[in-house]
Amino acid sequence: MKGQTAVITGGGRGIGKAIAEYFARRGVNIVIVDVNLDIATETAGQIAALGVKSLAVKADVSKSADVSAIFESAVKEFQKVEILVNNAGITRDGLIMRMSEEDWDAVMNINLKGTFLCSKEAIRVMAKQRYGRIINISSVVGFMGNAGQANYTATKAGVMGLTKTIAREYASRGITANAVAPGFITTAMTDALPENIKSEMMKVIPLGRFGTVDDVAAAAAFFASPDAGYITGQVIHVNGGMYM
Ligand code: NAP
Repeated sequence: MKGQTAVITGGGRGIGKAIAEYFARRGVNIVIVDVNLDIATETAGQIAALGVKSLAVKADVSKSADVSAIFESAVKEFQKVEILVNNAGITRDGLIMRMSEEDWDAVMNINLKGTFLCSKEAIRVMAKQRYGRIINISSVVGFMGNAGQANYTATKAGVMGLTKTIAREYASRGITANAVAPGFITTAMTDALPENIKSEMMKVIPLGRFGTVDDVAAAAAFFASPDAGYITGQVIHVNGGMYM
């Protein structure tokens, strides 16, 4: 992976930042994409301190003009993009009867349409290179369902269908597409949950702990590595056994 370029959406913090650091420690140059330029710039600075090149790009993955600009900047800076990690994602939870159309659309636009738009632009670059690795971040709840997350679970299941279609359409161009489906991972988002919810969740995790951002990054790095060259259209579940 040394010397390759990875575009990581939502790379400013959380799981995306951990993936960026994990890849950077393996010599990959990193494009950090985030809606918040300050966070993207700060993280890109930390990545550069690991001895690789980095670039911060402010973009909303749900806007096609922003997404085109991500790949224009990436190619201008690094001439190529071997790896795309579609990690940017949001939640707007609520039971179906109370879920607004705005909350449905917001989650669809960022989690699912954003993955489509970024993949489409990446494929343009990767098809010319005849090499690419697309890694989409799904979620355990896209496979299990989850009360209060109709919009989110639909996008995360949708990401899996999209992954398999990219895998079929672009295998002949040397592009693989795979997904990582994290379970309960400790991030700022999950830290904020009440203790009683966290202890209930712990009961259904056979390995008896919440996941770390590095648990997810390791699975993403495997898909990005040459070792995964014969694997496409697949998912790795990183969930401590809560879904099998
Ligand atoms: P997070 O801490 O909220 O980070 C998400 C990142 O995406 C943030 O940097 C955010 O930027 C950015 N982002 C949001 N909207 C964006 C947009 N429209 N365009 C570009 N970037 C955008 O979330 P996380 O926990 O690391 O989750 C990362 C991914 O893993 C998501 O797809 C999530 O669904 C998935 N996942 C997480 C868990 C978990 O337990 N944490 C479990 C399963 C799956 P701002 O901060 O500036 O808004």
